[in-house]
Amino acid sequence: LTRLLGPLQALSNVRIDIMTALVSFDRVFEVLDLPSPIQEKPGAVALPASSSRLEFRDVHFSYPRAEDVSLASLEGLARTESRDNGEVLHGVSFVAEPGQMIALVGPSGAGKSTMTHLVARLYDVDSGAVLVGGEDVRDVQLESLEAVVGYVTQDAHMFHDTIRANLVYARPDAGEADVWKALEAAHVADLVRSLPDGLDTVVGDRGYRLSGGERQRLAIARLLLKAPAVVVLDEATAHLDSESEAAVQRALDSALEGRTSLVIAHRLSTVRNADQILVLEQGQVVERGTHTELIVAGGLYADLHRTQFLGAEREVATEGVTATG
Ligand code: ATP
Repeated sequence: LTRLLGPLQALSNVRIDIMTALVSFDRVFEVLDLPSPIQEKPGAVALPASSSRLEFRDVHFSYPRAEDVSLASLEGLARTESRDNGEVLHGVSFVAEPGQMIALVGPSGAGKSTMTHLVARLYDVDSGAVLVGGEDVRDVQLESLEAVVGYVTQDAHMFHDTIRANLVYARPDAGEADVWKALEAAHVADLVRSLPDGLDTVVGDRGYRLSGGERQRLAIARLLLKAPAVVVLDEATAHLDSESEAAVQRALDSALEGRTSLVIAHRLSTVRNADQILVLEQGQVVERGTHTELIVAGGLYADLHRTQFLGAEREVATEGVTATG
């Protein structure tokens, strides 16, 4: 507990882990017996479940300093007002119309993950606004925002519990048929069927050891059960072999179909399919457009495409050759 009270990094990681599991934002603070620095404002409106337009309007953001967060929490302040001068996002704007996919690319530290955190309102902006379904996320009931935004991070977390329990966290009223439908769509049903205890197999820290790809596909099944209108996704590929990677990709395709998504892209197929690619550098959008437009423009994206995306694709191809001998 003491360890968690300290650095913001620790607090935010716990929060994101919990988010990944699609459990209440605030539960971690309940567990810590602290008021969450993110508070629901009196008279907050319920965001309709179908809200699917996503907008960043001139968003400026810097992470609150660790000591301010601990202090704010301990003193019961609604939120920390004090920010250091290390602004991480400097006026980011974009619109994702319902059903569109926005891909975020850019060098490490450019602010991609930070943008995904703001959609889920893990932090509040310094100025500007993040809008979901036309509503400023600071004006809506937290629970309704959670229901609208599904978040899958690279390192999908499973609780030490049965597969069934891990999945229905997202939708407690889900029946057996719904669960299997989600597992099928996430390309992980065969695995679950092959386990001696099926859906009742205990996974997590001390349970059945899932591979990275299996964990991710289960997280996607959980997302499909929840069926949020907006999906925020940090695409993970690095630690997957090519077979898992293909299965995860198919699972993601089902998860993103018909939903608005903001994806931190690591794969060529994602950037090619995106309705708009935002190229982020040092907290600013320096280029935007479709894959073809940006290749033609010959700027930073064209460089990244050569080094990162084509490189990743070659790696997968090589792994495939090795795997099949
Ligand atoms: P990567 O591709 O390496 O994941 P990114 O583009 O996602 O990078 P961010 O993780 O959003 O970049 O980081 C943007 C900046 O914000 C970096 O300078 C980073 O050090 C800083 N940062 C990220 N998380 C926190 C945090 N919890 N507290 C303080 N600063 C942070």
